[in-house]
Amino acid sequence: MKALSPIYKYFWKYKTRLILGILFILLSNYFRILSPQITGYVVNNVVKTIAEVKNPGKSIQIKNAETSIVLSNELYDFNSFTFEQKILFSGILLLGLALLSGLFMFFMRQTIIVMSRHIEFDQKNEIYKHYQSLDIGFYKSNATGDLMNRISEDVSRVRMFTGPALMYFFNLAIIIGLSIFFMLQADVKLTLVALCPLPILAITIYTVNSIINKKSERIQSMLSNLTSNAQESFSGIRVIKSFAQEKAMLSFFNKTNEEYKKNSLSLAKTEAIYFPSMALLIGISTLITIMVGGLAVAQGQEGATVGKIAEFVLYIQMLTFPVSAIGWTASMTQRAVASQTRINEFLNITPTITDSKDALSNKLSGEIIFKNVSFTYPHTGIKAIKNFTLDIRSGEKIAIVGKTGSGKSTIAQLLLRMYDVEEGSIAYDGIEIKKFSLNHLRTSISYVPQEVFLFSDSVKNNIQFGKASAITEEIESAARNANIYNEIMEFPEGFNTIIGERGVTLSGGQKQRISIARAMLKNPEILIFDDCLSAVDSKTEHSILQHLNEYIEQKTAIIITHRIFSLLNFDKIIVLEEGKIAESGNHEDLLQKKGIYYEMYQRQQSEGIKDQIN
Ligand code: ADP
Ligand code: MG
Repeated sequence: MKALSPIYKYFWKYKTRLILGILFILLSNYFRILSPQITGYVVNNVVKTIAEVKNPGKSIQIKNAETSIVLSNELYDFNSFTFEQKILFSGILLLGLALLSGLFMFFMRQTIIVMSRHIEFDQKNEIYKHYQSLDIGFYKSNATGDLMNRISEDVSRVRMFTGPALMYFFNLAIIIGLSIFFMLQADVKLTLVALCPLPILAITIYTVNSIINKKSERIQSMLSNLTSNAQESFSGIRVIKSFAQEKAMLSFFNKTNEEYKKNSLSLAKTEAIYFPSMALLIGISTLITIMVGGLAVAQGQEGATVGKIAEFVLYIQMLTFPVSAIGWTASMTQRAVASQTRINEFLNITPTITDSKDALSNKLSGEIIFKNVSFTYPHTGIKAIKNFTLDIRSGEKIAIVGKTGSGKSTIAQLLLRMYDVEEGSIAYDGIEIKKFSLNHLRTSISYVPQEVFLFSDSVKNNIQFGKASAITEEIESAARNANIYNEIMEFPEGFNTIIGERGVTLSGGQKQRISIARAMLKNPEILIFDDCLSAVDSKTEHSILQHLNEYIEQKTAIIITHRIFSLLNFDKIIVLEEGKIAESGNHEDLLQKKGIYYEMYQRQQSEGIKDQIN
């Protein structure tokens, strides 16, 4: 239960609803619990009238039968009513009580269930906000599915506790309390007899419920296996078909599906036991009550009447649902505890990359200094950057080249402070990176990642992503600068065309250029392009770089690439190898060195010629 403590604050927040809800539960049950007494009264009067009809002239007395707790009001004298009047009056009373009880039941759901929906909403926001504050490292070490489950499935389970389970808990506590109170007032012995089988009922239902929950959980995970299996085969359909593996995939799917079916059938069997066993126990309870009560009436015991038996049978009926709900409430609470524990696991992770106190928001000039920077990826232990030192002056254009895995992208990640350096330091304008506000730092830098990501949204919204205030002209000019404007205009709905699964499918190069447009729109002080022209043909690349040259004139730009051929205008070129600077200088310097750069250049030149021949 301690695990649930993070949601107590929400109960406090919605305390009015909670207290009103409990009050409504109390009222609803109070009006409901009065009806067995009236029914008992009616039955006794029927018995009395039948006896009087059979023995004309005699007045039959039934001990303690004329009054009951509800009907003992001194304001009106029931005994002076005729039989018909008594029945009619009781009927109206029963109807009125049912209506009142129903009305308050409606209010009870309207307060407690609505409260749980509010809590669900708040909790989702809390988790989402926390997720957003966590660093990239968290996302690398936790699967997306896991993150999704905790914010949807687990929150739903907690809601089952804050809503229905809590409501039924109060409901059952109140109704059990009230009915036992009235039962004891009516007849102590009969009460004990009637209640005897109920604990067995509660335990049985709890056990069956736990088994059902366990089984449905297994089925749930099988279902998610099945869906991800199907999903993967649909998205990978081209590979499956081209390798002629449809049969193999089908048999794999079949096997998972078969397993799912087997488990579902077993669950259905357990569920089938549920209601009959409940009915059996209720039946036993009713039977014993009628037997014991009937014997007492037959023997003419003090206070024993047929009406009382009817009253008790109704109490048992009334208790059935609450008693069976004990098991359900307990297992719902257990599930909520397990879910909240999982949620807490993530909520308790504190982001390692945060703003320092008095974080700075100074405008950046674009001067960057790396001093003996080393960096190891925390969860893999891969040392990606080793003793990296580099001075970049304001407005300089730097190119970083190197083989795959040499650490180029890691440099970009460190500049954005996605990770903190392990040794050494990175400073903007002589101020250490950690002193800047993260938000300010990241808005001052435009970054085009190597792995382009576009949202399933319109082209316009994708470009506008980092600058919501951008006007249409700005968006169009960014698209022109990224050499994508004409292609966008050819899409069915131009800039309003939806990208992604439900919209147009873009080529790798188009995606890259849209994300370049997104970065150019932001108009930052520093620009980082991480190999974002790899899927663009060399002619388009040339044209983009020309626009880029004008665009970045005043800005510091770091262009990461594996193509050397278009790097002629850079102030400095860094050749990275295994996280270290292997060579640096401008194009001519590096060619003269006849080192790695020279080799790369030669190789790419000859490949370029080959391309032209083909
Ligand atoms: P490049 O961009 O030059 O191809 P990276 O900076 O992506 O190189 O990678 C440098 C090294 O760090 C590689 O060995 C790579 O496997 C490793 N690496 C890159 N990203 C991660 C990551 N998120 N987690 C762990 N290791 C990584
Ligand atoms: Mg890279």
